[in-house]
Amino acid sequence: MKKTYDVIIIGGGVVGTSIARELSRFTLSVALLEKEAELAFGVSKSNSGIIHPGTQNPPFSLKGRLCVEGNRLMRTWARELGVHFVEVGECILIFEEKERAALLQIKADAESLGVPGLRLVDRAWLRDHEPNVNPEALAALYAPSAGIISPYRLVYDLAENAVRNGAEIFLEQKVVSLRKENNLFWVGTESGESFQSRFLINAAGLFADEVARLAGIHDITIRPRKGEEYLLDKKRENLTRHLLFPLPTKTSKGILVIKTADGNPMVGPTARPTDDKEDLATTDQGLQEVLAAVQKMVPSIRREDIIAYFAGLRPVAGDDFILRHEHGVPGMIQAAGMQSPGLTAAPAVARCVCSLLAKNGLALRRKWFFHRHRKAARHLFTLPLGQAGKLIRRHPPYGDIVCRCEMVSAQEVRDAVHRGARTLDGIKFRTRAQAGRCHGGFCTTRIMKILAAELNLPPEKISKRGPGSEIVMADRDTGVFEAKDQHEE
Ligand SMILES: Cc1cc2nc3c(=O)[nH]c(=O)nc-3n(C[C@H](O)[C@H](O)[C@H](O)COP(=O)(O)OP(=O)(O)OC[C@H]3O[C@@H](n4cnc5c(N)ncnc54)[C@H](O)[C@@H]3O)c2cc1C
Repeated sequence: MKKTYDVIIIGGGVVGTSIARELSRFTLSVALLEKEAELAFGVSKSNSGIIHPGTQNPPFSLKGRLCVEGNRLMRTWARELGVHFVEVGECILIFEEKERAALLQIKADAESLGVPGLRLVDRAWLRDHEPNVNPEALAALYAPSAGIISPYRLVYDLAENAVRNGAEIFLEQKVVSLRKENNLFWVGTESGESFQSRFLINAAGLFADEVARLAGIHDITIRPRKGEEYLLDKKRENLTRHLLFPLPTKTSKGILVIKTADGNPMVGPTARPTDDKEDLATTDQGLQEVLAAVQKMVPSIRREDIIAYFAGLRPVAGDDFILRHEHGVPGMIQAAGMQSPGLTAAPAVARCVCSLLAKNGLALRRKWFFHRHRKAARHLFTLPLGQAGKLIRRHPPYGDIVCRCEMVSAQEVRDAVHRGARTLDGIKFRTRAQAGRCHGGFCTTRIMKILAAELNLPPEKISKRGPGSEIVMADRDTGVFEAKDQHEE
């Protein structure tokens, strides 16, 4: 007989995995279905990694309230999961006296949402605390509770902890059909599997409207808003001490100078609506726009500082998040339209989903023991030299460096595989190997060999991000491996 889950979650981004972790506190059977080869391959991999304080949201919005609560909860979650969270603070800069009223309005709105510690700072403060900021900046709104986190490592750590507490995760399971019969949801996937559950959560990011439609719900439309981001060389790590924002526009928080959890500063994102959910191209126009905007705040930023770029698509469905129980399809919860600040809000969204489930008939009984803590993964790049030396003396494989740009060892790659990595991108997001200036030119072959050995797979099965993105093919007659034509991807 097929297992009936209490809850099935569709989507393995930060929202789906946060919900899985929150539900795993209770005596429930929970399954998460993800269409990609690994988790965090959707919007949750391509964002700014900011844990926003809640300064740029309309005062009565759901996203505003959940952002402030998420910022508060994220500190506890990060501590419990061993995820590196740093409270760096943010400054929203103004350059003209006439902008001061807008800054004061942002402060008042944010205070009404409960954002702590806000303070207007003047030019002298900026000179002392942000020496690289344009001296023409007049003042700023300083929000000390802004933080940074690695968005993908957060997803992996949430998932690992949820699984430790009993949740089940199924990869390469694209949901293509939904049916409700005898009070049960029947969920069919492209691979021909079927799953059943009493409750269903739609956390499918950019595709949440398509998943909703499978259940006969037609009032959700996701119109992506594209954001291009540009990563700077690590040698510019100390470019700024805080996150720097301009005044927000109607549709976005503006183009920012960002500190990241990995050390590289980042600049962006743009905000342009698109109808194409697969359009992840960066453009020359986007680059010009980003450079002009950030050079106004920090004139020393140069085009040559850029070492990598990417684009992400915000899953926008109107002005706010859609978080609701579907009365027409009892038992189904929508967690859709998770535009920014969805990363920040995710823990609060997860709590909100739990209370919607409870209100609609799911009994939430706490487990007698919940594994709250997770042992943090070892990353040489986070360790001071002395501690790294000690680790290598105790475990020599940590001294076998695979990625020279980012100082990642063979053992960290193996650890990542043991924690669930299956692809080159999965290794990159977990360890940073291939994320440096050479983009994997030196380490990809070695990482492929480790993946093949640890997963017991032939090299031609090792892919960048899942089936269809394999890197080499074997000649059937000679057994020799050749690089696959890049155009085949
Ligand atoms: C450029 C940019 C910058 C941003 N910066 C920030 C920031 O600094 N701070 C912040 O708080 N927020 C930020 N955001 C917003 C944040 O990234 C998103 O709100 C968040 O990642 C959304 O997570 P999610 O889990 O809803 O979506 P996703 O991460 O996309 O997860 C949805 C998952 O569902 C899967 N899926 C889809 N359809 C199916 C199906 N049929 N069957 C099975 N699985 C399916 C997808 O593969 C995907 O993995 C930014 C967004 C962008 C684009």
